[in-house]
Amino acid sequence: MSTTEVQTLSNLIGGRWVASTSGKSEPVYNPATEEILARVPLSNGDDVDLAVRTAKEAFKSWSATAVPRRARILFRYQQLLVEHREELARLITLENGKSYNEAYGEVQRGIECVEFAAGAPTLMMGKQLPDIATNLESGMYRYPIGVVGGITPFNFPMMCPCWMFPLAIACGNAFVLKPSERTPQLANRLGELMKDAGLPDGVLNIVHGAHDVVNGLLEHKDVKAISFVGSQPVAEYVYRKGTSHDKRVQALAGAKNHTIVMPDADLDYAVNQVLNAAFGSAGERCMAASVVVAVGEAHAPFLAKLKAAADRIKIGNGLEDGVFLGPVIRGPHKERTLGYIETGEKEGALLVRDGRTDSAVGGKGYFVGPTIFDGVTTEMRIWQEEIFAPVLSVAQADSLDEAIAMANRSEFANGACIFTKDGGNVRKFREEIDAGMLGVNLGVPAPMAFFPFSGWKKSFYGDLHANGSDGVEFYTRKKMVTARW
Ligand code: NAD
Repeated sequence: MSTTEVQTLSNLIGGRWVASTSGKSEPVYNPATEEILARVPLSNGDDVDLAVRTAKEAFKSWSATAVPRRARILFRYQQLLVEHREELARLITLENGKSYNEAYGEVQRGIECVEFAAGAPTLMMGKQLPDIATNLESGMYRYPIGVVGGITPFNFPMMCPCWMFPLAIACGNAFVLKPSERTPQLANRLGELMKDAGLPDGVLNIVHGAHDVVNGLLEHKDVKAISFVGSQPVAEYVYRKGTSHDKRVQALAGAKNHTIVMPDADLDYAVNQVLNAAFGSAGERCMAASVVVAVGEAHAPFLAKLKAAADRIKIGNGLEDGVFLGPVIRGPHKERTLGYIETGEKEGALLVRDGRTDSAVGGKGYFVGPTIFDGVTTEMRIWQEEIFAPVLSVAQADSLDEAIAMANRSEFANGACIFTKDGGNVRKFREEIDAGMLGVNLGVPAPMAFFPFSGWKKSFYGDLHANGSDGVEFYTRKKMVTARW
């Protein structure tokens, strides 16, 4: 397809598809083929202002709409998402590159967020105490906060937006979504289906673009809260700038997740899980296993089995049958990843499997094969920094204490996992590890719509996490009424 035939996407504002006024756009690529799928507008502050003013107007009647009526629209949305599950998964694979199975799983995670949000009548309930003193009662009432802005990354084009707008809207807010400029078509499809579900115009708006849209939302006086998911430096920037503009901010950031493999673990099972956790979605998951700390005699057999399993991985276009490992998102990200592999070698880590040599790597598409380093230490950049690609670091420790201490030296603390059959090990791990999401005998402790989700340390900026009861708290404010009759 030539670039002249390619469609430039529109923003969704007030229920209508409108062109950005910026006149600027950039290509959206299929990372498996390098084909241009569409062009995404790089919207400006005026586009943001129009969306926020429209949302503010829509908020007046939406926030006054009975909560069960709001919930009914989410029930219809849930049905539509289920009906369009295959189409949505295919679109995720086209734009993001992950395998169709992974994409299908992501759609399911997004649908669960809508299911949780459809419980709004229960979630929005307050509390009463009829007798705080003689003839004196007190009650807490929950209200929406106004216009909420959401800024999302490329790696979960459906799930991350679905952590935000269904619950925010169910709570009575109006929403302006700034999706990743690398996966914008999926966002528009989510918006279209929301219109089909009967959401009143202006309650969900989508403004495409990059920095200018983010800054427009952060600076706008009528945006009351910002939900952000993305890399650490941008999360920190969004948190600092958003809070300095008097907004409530939750900013979920980058990661370097450690997986501890104990000598008593079922190694075949652990290898299978780690293979998926490290190389699934091309390592572009915030919950990806990026460091394995093998304890004692687990190290040698684990590494041998892992290398053999990685050799069997099928690399290619995620829409093809049996493909497990798709491309990374863009050419520069591939170059950056290859740079990290060189760095690891220079730092003295042992390259056990070199993903640069896989046959898919030389051709079209941004492919990097599964890469495994052994002998990684905390002095190395490949241990310290988030690579966000199919590159796994393996380290050795003599004890669980040593393994936990290594994980806790990371400045990130999104997730951590342990493989063991010993309850005492699990308890020690649970109590002593610094991380927000823990997995026991599984590779990816994935976020669930009904539980709060986030990391600690530099993996999260804010107070209230995404999803579950924290999500409800984040998207609502409370009034206390004390009354004497
Ligand atoms: P990114 O930080 O590059 O982009 C995220 C969003 O911020 C995008 O919408 C982008 O347009 C915007 N943005 C990027 N640079 C900006 C800048 N300088 N100023 C203003 N806005 C900017 O992240 P990404 O590459 O899309 O996603 C991958 C990152 O997201 C990884 O670090 C991953 O760990 C993280 N992530 C974290 C979680 C979590 O739950 N903690 C979940 C998914 C992804």
